[in-house]
Amino acid sequence: MTNKVLVIGGGAAGLAAAKTLVDMHKEVVLVEKEESLGGLVRELTCKGVSECRNCGVCYVVDRAAEILAEPAAEVFLRSEIVSVDRKDEGFMVRIRSGARYVSSSCIGCGRCVEVCPVEGGAIHPPKGSGRPTTYWIDRDRCLHFKKKKCERCAEVCSTDAVVYDDRATNVTRHVSSVILASGIEPVDASEVPRLGYGSIPDVMSSVDAERILNERGRIVRPSDGAAPKKIAMIQCVGSRSEKTGVEYCSKFCCKYGTKIAQLLMDIDPDIDLDFYFMDLRTLYEPQDDFKRWAASKKRKVEKKKVPQVRLIRSMPSQAYPGDGGGVVLRSSGESDVETTDTPYDLAILSVGMRPRAVPEALGSSLGVEVDELGFMRCSEGESSSGMFFIGAACEPMDIEETITKAIAAAAEAAAQRTGGSR
Ligand SMILES: Cc1cc2nc3c(=O)[nH]c(=O)nc-3n(C[C@H](O)[C@H](O)[C@H](O)COP(=O)(O)OP(=O)(O)OC[C@H]3O[C@@H](n4cnc5c(N)ncnc54)[C@H](O)[C@@H]3O)c2cc1C
Ligand code: SF4
Ligand code: SF4
Ligand code: SF4
Repeated sequence: MTNKVLVIGGGAAGLAAAKTLVDMHKEVVLVEKEESLGGLVRELTCKGVSECRNCGVCYVVDRAAEILAEPAAEVFLRSEIVSVDRKDEGFMVRIRSGARYVSSSCIGCGRCVEVCPVEGGAIHPPKGSGRPTTYWIDRDRCLHFKKKKCERCAEVCSTDAVVYDDRATNVTRHVSSVILASGIEPVDASEVPRLGYGSIPDVMSSVDAERILNERGRIVRPSDGAAPKKIAMIQCVGSRSEKTGVEYCSKFCCKYGTKIAQLLMDIDPDIDLDFYFMDLRTLYEPQDDFKRWAASKKRKVEKKKVPQVRLIRSMPSQAYPGDGGGVVLRSSGESDVETTDTPYDLAILSVGMRPRAVPEALGSSLGVEVDELGFMRCSEGESSSGMFFIGAACEPMDIEETITKAIAAAAEAAAQRTGGSR
């Protein structure tokens, strides 16, 4: 019996599973379709400034770097599973390993991006905190592959990292078990058009806010790049809604929303922040901590202390463009009798999630079953088939729960089906 386990998906779940397996002296074949490891968490920000806020983001970035350096883990990026067939109590897996066109000698200087003539660029850094940090060329956009003879990036690269003759390859591996961790997609905030995402520049989604905070270390208004002083955060955008089909609570957005609110105030203590919510579901942390934190944020105005953070149990009904930028939110109070229009420099919409669809051929060869909402039937404990389905593709999960469950499934896969130690 082979000592190898296949892990499909290099997000929080896949990485936690891979790390558990190598720690148990198994070999891992990790296949990720994107150019770097980390999954959705690549684009999220660490939410602590002076002290850790336990958001879990750093765990994923650290595991990604460890797995890349791990001799027992073979990592295929920009790659896909072509087929999985049963063989000798295990599985024969065919993998299409994509070309990157940039070698590991890339030092991430970014000079290639500056000279690339393609609008929007054809050579890119990996997303957010994704690992490795090696750049990659999008062959479909690159002029070199359109017979236009462009080699500008190669000409400016001081480490000769650009490799135009890199080729996609097909590889085959024999594995004892398969772990599928295909993950999630954030809800597109424009699915809730009344809140102005996509039509009002100073309305952004929480995914945008996370990315900007991760890249710049502070938030800026999209319309003019200014530092916003009055911010609205709106929870439950797209979740718990029949209209979007996301009828469930996405479970992690109260956790990240409350932490983003605190991070924003840590970075700029002068901000006024209105936090619109329906219910506060902060997972493991008592909501009272957040309420106490909000109540403690006050500024002195003419010898009086006025609140800087307001927790408003209401869902704004409409957004309008503000005069000279910003956004105006119409909302009713808890009594639902009167409506108020409140101007903000910026509104952040905390979006929920959907499970990511598994490609049909892969789903049927692995025997993936999904419920009416698209969630995979999760692996709890033993799996006689040698298949394990894990992560937030099974049910809404934050990073911590994703990791805990992935570790349990990987330990089961290692104990149950693989041969002795390598
Ligand atoms: C805006 C936002 C902020 C958040 N902030 C926090 C936070 O602060 N703290 C927290 O605990 N949680 C947070 N979360 C939740 C967190 O993102 C999830 O818990 C986590 O991403 C789940 O990890 P996963 O591995 O299951 O899925 P994913 O992160 O989606 O990873 C899945 C991976 O599988 C790959 N993949 C998919 N299909 C295939 C395939 N067929 N072949 C190869 N590869 C494939 C994908 O490319 C991806 O890399 C946030 C979520 C959102 C939307
Ligand atoms: S110029 Fe070369 S080393 Fe610099 S980021 Fe581009 S590929 Fe990497
Ligand atoms: S070859 Fe030209 S078009 Fe292609 S990535 Fe390099 S600079 Fe851009
Ligand atoms: S976690 Fe909070 S913001 Fe997210 S859907 Fe549930 S109640 Fe709404």
